[in-house]
Amino acid sequence: MLSAAEAEALILDRTVPLDRTRDIEILPIEKIAGRILAAPVTSKLDFPHWDNSAMDGYAVRFADVQQASAENPIALSVIEEIPAGFAPQKSIAPGQAARIFTGGMLPDGADTIVIQEVTERQGDRVVILQAPQPKAFVRSKAEFYQAGAPLLPAGLQIGAQAIAVLAAAQCTEVAVYRRPRVALFSTGDELVQPHQPLAPGQIVDSNQYALSALVTAAGAERIDLGIVPDRPEALKVAIEQAISQADLVISSGGVSVGDYDYVDRILDELGAKLHVRSVAVKPGKPLTVATFTQRDRPVLYFGLPGNPVSALVSFWRFVEPALRKLSGLPEGWRPVFVQGRTVQELRSDGKRESYLWGQVRLVDGEFEFQLAGGSHSSGNLINLAATNGLAIVPIGQTQTAAGDRTLIMLVDRT
Ligand code: AMP
Ligand code: MG
Repeated sequence: MLSAAEAEALILDRTVPLDRTRDIEILPIEKIAGRILAAPVTSKLDFPHWDNSAMDGYAVRFADVQQASAENPIALSVIEEIPAGFAPQKSIAPGQAARIFTGGMLPDGADTIVIQEVTERQGDRVVILQAPQPKAFVRSKAEFYQAGAPLLPAGLQIGAQAIAVLAAAQCTEVAVYRRPRVALFSTGDELVQPHQPLAPGQIVDSNQYALSALVTAAGAERIDLGIVPDRPEALKVAIEQAISQADLVISSGGVSVGDYDYVDRILDELGAKLHVRSVAVKPGKPLTVATFTQRDRPVLYFGLPGNPVSALVSFWRFVEPALRKLSGLPEGWRPVFVQGRTVQELRSDGKRESYLWGQVRLVDGEFEFQLAGGSHSSGNLINLAATNGLAIVPIGQTQTAAGDRTLIMLVDRT
């Protein structure tokens, strides 16, 4: 059986990112939040575009005021007022200054800003009461960015910060990766949809809804294929349909060793390459990972265990890193692992890496983990609702004492 780290490495190795030329869309800037840049961006503009003032005050020649002090006030004549958005009409000669406001263009001849707090205005003159540093409060042309240099790299996930940069650089249309397409279905004769009445023996297909939410949150486009009964023929049709449309397929259920667990067999019959059949983790031991080659590109197949907690833990630990890599993010997207103290004792059988669910919070700058109350059966989804972290007990360890440090995987970071 593969360890979690081995399975993760193997999965990421089999994950081929979307193609940076074929799998792209050109989108208006209003629609790119959350998307991933498919090509590097450069700008023809310098930032700042021209020298400007960082403060409200006076634009002066440093040489005129370098001796200024309260004892030696220096008077300059104010020849122009330069609010933001105004192009100066005059240049500053010795003995002159311009009134200027934050963002105002520095006039020719001036090289320094004196903040208004150390000046005294007297009609059309200003008295400087303190010597500034040379070039004080001047934001110089191209100081932040020089036209033609790399501005944003391909692979960057676009948030508000990057949108600000793109907008300022007048990039109104941006090449981003298309959303990866993820097909989702659940297997099981016991499953019904939430609005259907429950007959004895039946349960609601909660995995479909939980996984849908996770897939959407990861920025993918969903293809919902619903519930598939435990019949090999039906499963075959569903899998064929899924792989013909999607970049990544997620099914839940049917990958264990029961008489009705057909997924692996059908994958095999359909010519998939099976890479993972189980992983030494708890919950989530039965995990099938396979690849198909469709339309010249691999389709990744994840057969998750049906138990609700197992399905989610498997998604967080193994599917999401692959989905993020597939999306066009550069190497290195991993779940976030932090160190924290566990409030309660954590137990494991020591044979598999155990993921115990609960709540993480920051207490005095340190992470603290509170185990979810109630049963830690992988079939118990009730105490999962407030989970935002999984405390990990490594293989070979059967217990982590209360108050000890533990590794915690952060989940649900929306
Ligand atoms: P399986 O992996 O198919 O053996 O299912 C393991 C357990 O998870 C069984 O108790 C199933 O009833 C339950 N289960 C399977 N699929 C789902 C699902 N989509 N939603 C909720 N529970 C499920
Ligand atoms: Mg089943």
